[in-house]
Amino acid sequence: MITITAQAYRELAGYCVSKLPVEACGLLSGREGIAETCWPITNREESPTAFTMDEAELDMVLEEIERSGEELVGMFHSHPTAAAKPSPFDKEHIVFPCSYLILSLASGRPRLRSYKPQEGELIPERITIIYDK
Ligand SMILES: [Zn+2]
Repeated sequence: MITITAQAYRELAGYCVSKLPVEACGLLSGREGIAETCWPITNREESPTAFTMDEAELDMVLEEIERSGEELVGMFHSHPTAAAKPSPFDKEHIVFPCSYLILSLASGRPRLRSYKPQEGELIPERITIIYDK
């Protein structure tokens, strides 16, 4: 299960929408397993169906997270035209052992799903959004 603050969710969704029609990506960090900070990272692919995080930005963000005393809770990316299910590309490019969130923008309303990496597969997990923190 992953827990996200409503604020972090709004930032994540807003960023992904702002990057349409290409995929957006980034990290989520927080304390005690609760994702409360959203870190957008440039998608080097500039593609509507794939993403690669800019490595320099990724390193900077990981440093910032450590400096702020938070920990990496999840990584996210958007699917501008597909469902919130991992693509074969996604499964081959699992980088971190953290939660793996996909936001689908294929229909009128954004749909967020989360997965946990396990032996090269991505297993669905529950998402809880908390409104006061
Ligand atoms: Zn994907």
